[in-house]
Amino acid sequence: METNHCPNCHAPIPANAPGGFCPACLLRDAEEPPASGHSAPPLEEIAAAFPQLEVTSLIGQGGMGFVYKVRQPSLDRVVALKILSPELGRDPAFAERFAREARTLGKLHHPNIVTVFEHGEAGGFFYLIMEYVDGVNLRQAMRAGRFTPQQALAIVPGICDALQYAHEQGVWHRDIKPENILLDRDGKVKIADFGIARIVGDPQRDFTLTMTGNALGSAAYMAPEQHEKPHAVDHRADIYSLGVVIYEMLTGELPLGRFPAPSQRAAVDARIDEIVFKTLEKERKLRQQSATEVKTDMHRAMQPGQCPPVQSATIAAPRRPVGLAKLAFGLFLFGITIPFLLWIISERAAERGIMLSALMMLLSLVLGIISFRETLGKVAAIASMAAIASMLILLLGIGMMTLGPRKIPYANEISSAVKDNADQLTVPKAPAAPTVTKMEKATPPRPLIQPPKASAAPAAPTVTVEEVFRKAVAAANESDGQQFELHMKMQKIDSQDPIAMPKREAPLFDSSSFKQPLEMMELFIGEVVNIKVVSIEKKRLAAINSTWLGEFSPVVYTTIRKSDGTLTRVCVKFENYDGRWAGSDLWFPNYRAFCRVEFKPDKGDAATMLKTHLGKNTDFRAVENKLGEFDVFGYGEDADDARTHADMCVENLRVSLKKFGLETALKVISPAVIPEAPYMAEDEPPFVEPKP
Ligand code: ADP
Ligand code: MG
Repeated sequence: METNHCPNCHAPIPANAPGGFCPACLLRDAEEPPASGHSAPPLEEIAAAFPQLEVTSLIGQGGMGFVYKVRQPSLDRVVALKILSPELGRDPAFAERFAREARTLGKLHHPNIVTVFEHGEAGGFFYLIMEYVDGVNLRQAMRAGRFTPQQALAIVPGICDALQYAHEQGVWHRDIKPENILLDRDGKVKIADFGIARIVGDPQRDFTLTMTGNALGSAAYMAPEQHEKPHAVDHRADIYSLGVVIYEMLTGELPLGRFPAPSQRAAVDARIDEIVFKTLEKERKLRQQSATEVKTDMHRAMQPGQCPPVQSATIAAPRRPVGLAKLAFGLFLFGITIPFLLWIISERAAERGIMLSALMMLLSLVLGIISFRETLGKVAAIASMAAIASMLILLLGIGMMTLGPRKIPYANEISSAVKDNADQLTVPKAPAAPTVTKMEKATPPRPLIQPPKASAAPAAPTVTVEEVFRKAVAAANESDGQQFELHMKMQKIDSQDPIAMPKREAPLFDSSSFKQPLEMMELFIGEVVNIKVVSIEKKRLAAINSTWLGEFSPVVYTTIRKSDGTLTRVCVKFENYDGRWAGSDLWFPNYRAFCRVEFKPDKGDAATMLKTHLGKNTDFRAVENKLGEFDVFGYGEDADDARTHADMCVENLRVSLKKFGLETALKVISPAVIPEAPYMAEDEPPFVEPKP
């Protein structure tokens, strides 16, 4: 069944539209204003609480809050803002639970789940900023009455994928119902409201909330155990709710009391009955045990050869065997895009992706040659050949640049010097090199590399990368010696227990192999004028015998004077790779500007109030010995950026304070001060790891 155009409006139907229904017709019929929110905060109030957003309209309302369409001018994007019902905020445990759960939701990234970008509290509202879905919810779509059984069943795989993904992350939805399933204009399914039931906390209460908020409420979609033992639910409750949604889509009714089989109401095969009944089992152990199982069952029931599921039509057009030419072309496309896709994750992932890409190109070339008679085969063969050729040329170029002795002075000397020192460097505990304090000059260490005799070459470096490296490790040790020791002990446990050791990407550079690009090493060549450990990031790895294994990644700021007198500032994050410290990340520091303000409210603690009004993303610090004076910081890639940001932070603060009549308590003492150099934490006290 291949329909390319809608029989009603003759508009083209996207290939991925579920069951081939026409999204344009569906949207036109289903769009309706949201239920008039008798208690929805007016747009002006929302606008005042979120000065950084342009509020467009109220787009939805459920039992737990209100959803607005808003624009984020700073990022030039349209997003959805969800304000949670103000009553919820009265529960004292709410804020903590909200922050915890919202953080988990922010980590759910799936094409069939509405992404949560941000969360927080502003102007007394707890809010979530999320991806805006331009479309309708399933309730609205069902009201439009255009669901054929094929369309209904075609929506299910997307929901299953989303649920499976979330369940694997340990998140269950707990409120799957048509209002929380969105369809966008391309007919793609997106689940909203993930985990909100858990944020709201007391399941009994969100049950009542939804009952009052929506005409239909959630009760009918909830698994029996959600009513009986709300604290003991697991992911299988979502499978039950999904069953109710499928049943309703097929029959237009809810499976209440003694309900008929879907096939008695809709033109579906008895196999679908079986699957739906299984999802609706009262005992959860009798249901499908995972969302993927539901999807697979459905898929099997709809296999054209096995059993015609829905009248004579099938949900998806029967798959034709993919021709070799198509495969070749597909491989080419995939091969060419994969490094770019991986680049989103990290540059290193992209570098690895190039290998995969080359492999795919080769395969595509071979398949393309075999199927050269077809146009696609020809295209694949020629294109992949061209791609392979350009890769080779590129690699050759890079090779020559890296090895060419003229391009990079001392390249070979650095490599051999590093090799000579490798043994010395692999010791887990570095020899105690003196930590260089603020702007104090390091004792010039013995030069490792002698300059070549040629007169045109620059002067010899006084310190090499491995010495910087050793100093950084020593600094890390010194600032947190105990934890370093502890860490080394843990490494031993780690190596005995492979499960506890997550697979990690190769280090950016390390003390024993030094396979990093020479350009990067060159950054460190010079005299160390400042080196400072600014923080020690902690990561949790795993628990063995109820002891937490941690990982500590010192972030080190270094200032290096180059032979021409200029200062280079580099930030490095170190990580321990199998007992060896290695740089895992390297970046150039940002600029930081500050505005000095005076804030003297009549009552209340000035710092606490500032924190509330500035939000968690803005740094500020009390000025020493100046009561009521604070520096508000802004960051940027260059000095101007930083200044603009600092000014913006103060302006936002002013707007926020004005809403509470506190504007007069604020005085701006100085507009943003432009820093001369990137921010290197030199003026701050040394980092101290808080005691657990
Ligand atoms: P509640 O938690 O109160 O049930 P929901 O998050 O389910 O609120 O939102 C209520 C309605 O708002 C949904 O049924 C949907 O129509 C609309 N909605 C929710 N989130 C979005 C979004 N990200 N994009 C577009 N519409 C949305
Ligand atoms: Mg909802």
